Amino acid sequence: MPSIRDLMRPNVGEIRPYREGKSHPGAVKLSANENPLGPSPKALQAMRELAPQVRLYPDPLCLELTARLAERLGVASENLIIGRGSDEIIHMLGLAFLRPGDEVIYADPPFALYPFTAKLMDCQSVAVPLKRFVHDLPGMAAAISERTRLIFVANPHNPTGTIVPRAQAEAFVHDLPEHVILAWDAAYHEYVTDGDYVDPLRLIEQRPNVIVLRTFSKIYALAGLRVGYGVAGPELIQVLTQVREPFNVSSVAQAAALASLDDPGQVTRGVQVNEEGKGYLYEQFEALGLEYVPTQANFILVNIGIDSVEAFERLAKAGYTVRTGDIWDLNTWIRLTIGTQEQNEGFAKALRECLRESVIGNWSDCHPERSEGSRRGI
Ligand SMILES: *Cc1c(COP(=O)(O)O)cnc(C)c1O
Repeated sequence: MPSIRDLMRPNVGEIRPYREGKSHPGAVKLSANENPLGPSPKALQAMRELAPQVRLYPDPLCLELTARLAERLGVASENLIIGRGSDEIIHMLGLAFLRPGDEVIYADPPFALYPFTAKLMDCQSVAVPLKRFVHDLPGMAAAISERTRLIFVANPHNPTGTIVPRAQAEAFVHDLPEHVILAWDAAYHEYVTDGDYVDPLRLIEQRPNVIVLRTFSKIYALAGLRVGYGVAGPELIQVLTQVREPFNVSSVAQAAALASLDDPGQVTRGVQVNEEGKGYLYEQFEALGLEYVPTQANFILVNIGIDSVEAFERLAKAGYTVRTGDIWDLNTWIRLTIGTQEQNEGFAKALRECLRESVIGNWSDCHPERSEGSRRGI
């Protein structure tokens, strides 16, 4: 009798399970880039109104949401596909385009879904190291081979929050070979304030083999409902529709996303709170002498100078969970979601204490006779 694992496709055995940021009961979760302000009241109202109707299947074509989004973005409905989060669009790209042995290019460290999709479809991953935390687009272009079928670029990137210069993005898309699909993941689009940001929709106008990914999970605070979308030329959208499950987006999710589009104030507010929190946290990091990566998203990658897994435990006890950098081989770094001012202040206090304790701990390890310690210049 073969074991069940013997029946499995070998590539499936090689998939590393998604490692959720560790949780801690009662702690403020600053580990998953979730929006601290919560959904729009309009979205909450829409969800409540829809609740009694959930015995019915959702609109399989997401017609209303598609039409409203198209109008909002200045594209046609044929340019849009709605997914159960942008994660599902990434999955559809794999299903529709990847043959076993194809090459998939993305940055190292990547957003977790890219290597997952490559492995799931039994493809070769080509991970091109970031350069000073920014996508190395010329390096990625140079990595394209005859076997390359799919390229992922997250702009802003996760886990770094960096963007690529506009001219570089345009050149990369301009030179993109026709046998490659480019997924331009703009999950944090609304948070960007840097003037050198390329408008992702301009990229799809240039080429039929580029798809832009956007989501309701971040600025619209609907991560738990799972709604995202792809924008591309009609041919690419048509191909993805071939592999889409008929009822992929729940009725409640469709309604909440639609209602969110009626509350533009939510975006303004979200960006404003994020900018204020960013400025505050930068100041705190600078006061502590900590290196951080300036961000265009709703999170910051910061080098706390001590082992991030140890720091996680202490920060969690103090009431804050963060993402530890060990998964990206950045052992002394953490990725921190920008919270409300109150959360940011609480976190900064917890971090100061965590670093002070660690210094005292290190001193007492090395100099037991001088255990009162002193602050290390970091
Ligand atoms: C958060 C995030 C997404 C969004 O995923 P959803 O499935 O829409 O929740 C996509 N790409 C990146 C890089 C992200 O960080």
